[in-house]
Amino acid sequence: MEKIPYKIYLSENEIPKQWYNVRADMKNKPAPLLNPATLKPMTLEELSQVFCEELAKQELDDTTPYIDIPDEIRDFYKMYRPSPLVRAYCLEKALDTPAKIYYKFEGNNTSGSHKLNSAIAQAYYAKKQGLKGVTTETGAGQWGTALSMACAYLGLDCKVFMVKCSYEQKPFRREVMRTYGADVTPSPSDTTEVGRKILAEHPGTTGSLGCAISEAVEVAVKSEGYRYVLGSVLSQVLLHQTVIGLEAKAALDKYGVKPDMIIGCAGGGSNLGGLVSPFMGEKLRGEKDYEIIAVEPASCPSLTRGKYAYDFCDTGMVCPLAKMYTLGSGFIPSANHAGGLRYHGMSSVLSQLYDDGLMTARSVEQTAVFAAAQQFARIEGILPAPESSHAIRVAIDEALKCKETGEEKTILFGLTGTGYFDMVAYQRFNDGQMSDHIPTDEELKAGFDGMPKVDL
Ligand SMILES: *Cc1c(COP(=O)(O)O)cnc(C)c1O
Repeated sequence: MEKIPYKIYLSENEIPKQWYNVRADMKNKPAPLLNPATLKPMTLEELSQVFCEELAKQELDDTTPYIDIPDEIRDFYKMYRPSPLVRAYCLEKALDTPAKIYYKFEGNNTSGSHKLNSAIAQAYYAKKQGLKGVTTETGAGQWGTALSMACAYLGLDCKVFMVKCSYEQKPFRREVMRTYGADVTPSPSDTTEVGRKILAEHPGTTGSLGCAISEAVEVAVKSEGYRYVLGSVLSQVLLHQTVIGLEAKAALDKYGVKPDMIIGCAGGGSNLGGLVSPFMGEKLRGEKDYEIIAVEPASCPSLTRGKYAYDFCDTGMVCPLAKMYTLGSGFIPSANHAGGLRYHGMSSVLSQLYDDGLMTARSVEQTAVFAAAQQFARIEGILPAPESSHAIRVAIDEALKCKETGEEKTILFGLTGTGYFDMVAYQRFNDGQMSDHIPTDEELKAGFDGMPKVDL
């Protein structure tokens, strides 16, 4: 057998032509989104008032296994895809492990993360529907950046509500978005009803993703020719992110490699869901088995310590209810530096798969995550995003276990992005000033108490 190269590249023609919808192979389907007023499943018509119609269809589609990727989207993908699948020979050597480590690197585009895979799809369907523009929220800024790029390319207007503390702490992210033509507003703001209400109730608040979502939805619903788009959590986003897993699997298949273990960080669940979907499909159909691990911050542990229940998706409670592993929409995580992993809930697809025992989850503390990030940067060269470094932490831990047991496991993990805009966090770590906050049961209870009191 030919030696496996450091990087397995696919050709342009091997960019997937269809996304894979893992819901089609799930025996227990994810629970439907509910209308908060009637507690009935959201209909296509209701969803289409908030989302583009084609995306609303994808959101509701639990049965079609493969969905065509329009040529226009594939052409955009060609500018930065296929993304490399890297064999981490250098890391394996440094760890002195018999494990074989691979990672799929999604940071090779200006937005610096996998989020562009869904941003271009969502912007495309908005354009095709003849809309003027889209609204969204962004926390750490990666999603807002990706969406700004996609909208600039297609000539769509883009209004971003950026969580106020990020807006102030990450001025460069904000300027990247503005360079791509987006209109960026710190949230909560006095430009929306819900924003004014939140400001009146919590003066001086530095915002949260939940607040920013409520503002973005309000503007979309009230503005002619606008719809709301979201960068994670929703099933449509997970669907678009399956290009990651489909490419990874195609690359590994070329060399006859089957991973034993697949690891990814989980914020809202889109990159992990996208990476694991084709492998999970084989597992669901009883063809192959894989150990799948979601890694989340100990400061925002929705899978490992949350409840599986219907909850609000946003602070203003304007969005549909979703059944998911959640800490409650009122839960405000401590100032963890992995901004993209601070959402209170988890994709309903992953929540169901986790509840069915088809994958496991682990939580890790941020100092341990940055130690892994530093080690990875020094050995593999890439400066990882703090979010991605959660997956690196567990991949290294597993490789070190193999060193003890002598097992030659094949580990695949998702390296979702780069960390150039997170240097304040790296600085904290380098100065020895980073701390770990693990919420107490008391603190979690406050979030649970705010969940909808419906028996579903
Ligand atoms: C947003 C983000 C994540 C987490 O989002 P998911 O939807 O869980 O994938 C992870 N890594 C990076 C770099 C991100 O920008």
